[in-house]
Amino acid sequence: MSTLTMKFGGTSVGGAQAIAQAVRLVLDHAKRWDEIAVIVSAMNSVTDALVNGARTAAHGDEQSYRSTVEDLRTRHAHVIEALIESADERTELIRITDCHLREFAAFCHSVMILGEITPRAMDTISSLGERINARIIAALLRQNGVQSEAIDATEIIVTDDAFQNAVPLMDLTRERVAARLRPLLANGVIPVITGFMGATQEGVTTTLGRGGSDYSAAIIGACLDSDEVWTWTDVDGVMTADPRIVPHAQVIPVLSYSEVSELAYFGAKVLHPRTMRPVIEHDIPLWVKNTFNPSCNGSRVVREAESIPGTIKAVTAIRGMSMVTVEGRGMLGVPGIAARTFAAVASQGASVLMIVQASSEQSICFVIPTDAVLGVVRALERELALELSRRDVERVWSHDGVVIVTAVGAGLRATPGVAARIFGALSKGDINVIAIAQGSSDCSISLVLDANDTVAAVCQIHDEVIINGR
Ligand code: ADP
Ligand code: ASP
Ligand code: MG
Repeated sequence: MSTLTMKFGGTSVGGAQAIAQAVRLVLDHAKRWDEIAVIVSAMNSVTDALVNGARTAAHGDEQSYRSTVEDLRTRHAHVIEALIESADERTELIRITDCHLREFAAFCHSVMILGEITPRAMDTISSLGERINARIIAALLRQNGVQSEAIDATEIIVTDDAFQNAVPLMDLTRERVAARLRPLLANGVIPVITGFMGATQEGVTTTLGRGGSDYSAAIIGACLDSDEVWTWTDVDGVMTADPRIVPHAQVIPVLSYSEVSELAYFGAKVLHPRTMRPVIEHDIPLWVKNTFNPSCNGSRVVREAESIPGTIKAVTAIRGMSMVTVEGRGMLGVPGIAARTFAAVASQGASVLMIVQASSEQSICFVIPTDAVLGVVRALERELALELSRRDVERVWSHDGVVIVTAVGAGLRATPGVAARIFGALSKGDINVIAIAQGSSDCSISLVLDANDTVAAVCQIHDEVIINGR
């Protein structure tokens, strides 16, 4: 028995032509696999529009979300009219779309009256695009002669209540997947499941974080014991750099789970950072493929990828960062100062992307998203008030407008000289390094740079170290 779980991202199901292509791919592979489960995103930019509608409503703007309703209605109706032949099926799909958009308008209205949007409400609102799209795609599969059913992931993915960044409860999810999906697959039905979302044990809708449909696919793939998980996107696979920054970036044919995790964690949007977790545990190969160029093999992600010592496979950048420094000559003698520093950061819900080694030893430096910096600096000043008054800690300050650029490759392990090549490439481009950081695994090196140097640094490392270093 062979089982394939495949996921289509926003651009891959972003309009009538793209959806028709995605459905062709499902039909094509349905001939070769015994069972196929499909996970779908909302049409591209729909989630952004829903989030924006809710945010503007919270600021008292009624106009924006109302015009979003109109735009989304037109866009979905256009796709339904273009693709669906049966008048009854069309009417039903338009009814469902309207019903979800009415819900959206009602939620936004409440948000406007309350004057705030909670993470819980945001999850219910932001996942409506997936609900609509799954129905359209299942209908198109049926029109093509296969049995298909749209399924809300709220029925099968059970999560904790960390709204906007929920974590799946895998044992419960496995039970629900078995109960809900197994009978369908056994009967030759192709389930089309909403990506991005899940629900708590009480049934409250949650989401897995932006870009979370990749993670949904890995969760469902693991719970179905799939032979493979494929994510269909709008580029040829995982590439040596973001092709939007380096147009001549190349596809990487094979990578390891840890290399991809590192890339995703440090900003490569091609996969959600937590996608690897469920597939690693079950050793399920993950493929990244291009919906619009399916004859290209794409990238295969497996436990052990071949790596040549000293080679770097890819470079990535994550923008919108600030580097916070707690500095003072008296700090070294103060017990527990690092623990208190990071506890203060955690109290603000900020995640530390990395702890960096700066030039002086008399400081603790770390990088966090700029959005969180104000709260974090204040919390640190409160926590360290005594040390500040005694001048053991001289100041807590932030360097905003920085970027983390990360070079990834398992071949970095214990290979001397790689860092020197990276620094050489940067100095050739006249780019200053603010700090060097230790990656969370031993297959990456990260640098903190001025955000204005992002494109130049990524291109330099790409061309000088990755391409010329081969
Ligand atoms: P989807 O909607 O299919 O999930 P995303 O927009 O979330 O697609 O992710 C795909 C995008 O990720 C690509 O269009 C590309 O610009 C970006 N990207 C960033 N880094 C990389 C990389 N190293 N390899 C491939 N794509 C990357
Ligand atoms: N539609 C969601 C988002 O835009 C999930 C996804 O595309 O993976 O974040
Ligand atoms: Mg994505």
